[in-house]
Amino acid sequence: MATAIPEVRIKGGSFLIETRTPEEIFTPEDLTDQHRLIGQTAEEFVAQEILPRSKEMEEKKPGLLRELLQKAAEIGLCATDVPQQYGGLELDKISSIIVSEKMARNGSWASTVGAQSGIGVLPIALFGTEAQKQKYVPKLSSAEWVGAYALSEATSASDALHCQTRAALSPAGRHYLLNGSKMWITNGGIADVYVVFAKLDGEKFTAFIVERGFPGVSVGAEEHKMGVRGSSTTPLNFENAPVPVENVLGEIGKGHRIAFNILNFGRLKLGAGCVGASKYLIAEAARWANERHAFGRKIADFGLIKEKLGEMVARAYAVEGVSYRTSGTIERALEGVHPAAPTAAQETMAALQEYAVECSILKVMGTETLDFIADETVQIYGGYGFSSDYEIEKAFRDQRVNRIFEGTNEINRLLMTEMLMKRAMKGELALLPAAQKLLDEMLSLPSPSGVEDGQPLADVAALVEGLKKTVLLVAGAAAQKFMAALPEEQELVGAVSNLVMETYATETALLRARKKIARSSEPAARAEADATSVYAYEAADRAEIEARRALARIAEGDLLRAYLGALRRFLRRPSPDRIGFLRRLADRALELNLYPFA
Ligand SMILES: Cc1cc2nc3c(=O)[nH]c(=O)nc-3n(C[C@H](O)[C@H](O)[C@H](O)COP(=O)(O)OP(=O)(O)OC[C@H]3O[C@@H](n4cnc5c(N)ncnc54)[C@H](O)[C@@H]3O)c2cc1C
Repeated sequence: MATAIPEVRIKGGSFLIETRTPEEIFTPEDLTDQHRLIGQTAEEFVAQEILPRSKEMEEKKPGLLRELLQKAAEIGLCATDVPQQYGGLELDKISSIIVSEKMARNGSWASTVGAQSGIGVLPIALFGTEAQKQKYVPKLSSAEWVGAYALSEATSASDALHCQTRAALSPAGRHYLLNGSKMWITNGGIADVYVVFAKLDGEKFTAFIVERGFPGVSVGAEEHKMGVRGSSTTPLNFENAPVPVENVLGEIGKGHRIAFNILNFGRLKLGAGCVGASKYLIAEAARWANERHAFGRKIADFGLIKEKLGEMVARAYAVEGVSYRTSGTIERALEGVHPAAPTAAQETMAALQEYAVECSILKVMGTETLDFIADETVQIYGGYGFSSDYEIEKAFRDQRVNRIFEGTNEINRLLMTEMLMKRAMKGELALLPAAQKLLDEMLSLPSPSGVEDGQPLADVAALVEGLKKTVLLVAGAAAQKFMAALPEEQELVGAVSNLVMETYATETALLRARKKIARSSEPAARAEADATSVYAYEAADRAEIEARRALARIAEGDLLRAYLGALRRFLRRPSPDRIGFLRRLADRALELNLYPFA
């Protein structure tokens, strides 16, 4: 498919130390007609086939999920990322995240189809032998078979490598006998094929393709959940279950490569799904605010309602940018990888690994933005938001799990900084020299704060530069003080990750708005500039609090004073009328009854 992916290939994590131009990143402004068509097809499918069955899904009507998966598969939606030769659509990553956005209108459906088209089929499509691919992938693509991914256990999920499920070669040497239990398996109750992780001989963490019909495999009862109640989530038990030796997936002892790389994919798609759900809820909130009256006026006229809508729009704008920027960067890195080539799995995984930090950022920001937006939508709905008769109550419950699965947000925060630090230590990313230079300069001369680059949103550009310096200051000072003991200072690691996220999101919003300003006229571009300003000033406020707290843990006395002085310079900023920005943003959403940048 013809895409408008930027030419430049960017190193993962380099946004902290390099400056990008608007045309170097992919943004929603670059979407092609084909992308929009795919989005429209997916949106219509959800509107026509899924939303009318939402109640039946919640009531767990037998056979319904399989029926819906098969309908989705008829138009390729269960295999967006699967090579065509195995029955997939082989879409580019942008199209794939657009589909994830559209599927997220209903949380139960998003989980069901997400498991089928992602963690259910991709481990086999990427890591399977040719025979495994031929046997399983076409049937999973067509949803003749339903797939699931079984990593978590009752006592180990974040800590998945410490699983208790065991595999041992049978005396005849033709099977591995599986023993143990998995928990929380999406599609568990309806799946035919499971990718199961177990330790061979108690130590070699390995993936196996397990069919539901194998002797000794049994499925436990459905979990009673806070949300996504229409999806199937069950335990899975193995009692001496014989798995043919040819069903080992990937290499023995290398299951972690499959488990964790597939999660990078999952994070990208989950983050994108959260963007889609956020946009949908903003539209619902705007519509409700326009229709609901109190004190003789529509509630949309009240400043406190506008403030909420404006905030919701600004945050969604930033994270939407993060989603497309990240997917575009990955798409560029995948250029030239032929899905049918023997090296495809390795190359795809290398690309995902390169941008694992960005995938984690999208997962955390996407899920937390949706959390905020769902909560504020309930508030705008008032009592009706609390009533099960309205979709908003369900949307609020459904979104909560997003911060828990695909790696909890705590685990993703730990991973972000850990991965950046590791790359820095290996010399793959020049973070250490940049941090050292900053610390040296800071303790000698006062460094100028930011840049005035003469372009639109120059104040935000200065803040982006200041945020980058703040990350380097806090990360550099923390590494210098705690060295190898830094992982034990989890609060600091989390603070660095929060600063990294604010930096990536603010820069993305800036570049996106500048692209829009360069390409179009008022009022659309003004709304984008407003969203960027709101996001940037709030990011700077949050970053300042975060950095002050972190630095006070790292230093004291004169050194702390020097750090805090530098921090003030880095994040020095004017005080524009943010309430004005928020009102204008809200008015735009209210005028369109929509998320205004769709
Ligand atoms: C609806 C649903 C569907 C799911 N689907 C699947 C599926 O299809 N396949 C699958 O394999 N799993 C699935 N899961 C499991 C999910 O991935 C785990 O629940 C998740 O990884 C968290 O693990 P846990 O529940 O054991 O929590 P724990 O790991 O016990 O975590 C509890 C808390 O401690 C924190 N924590 C843990 N370790 C650390 C640490 N080192 N430092 C700081 N904080 C830490 C966590 O962030 C969390 O806040 C699903 C879960 C749910 C609820």
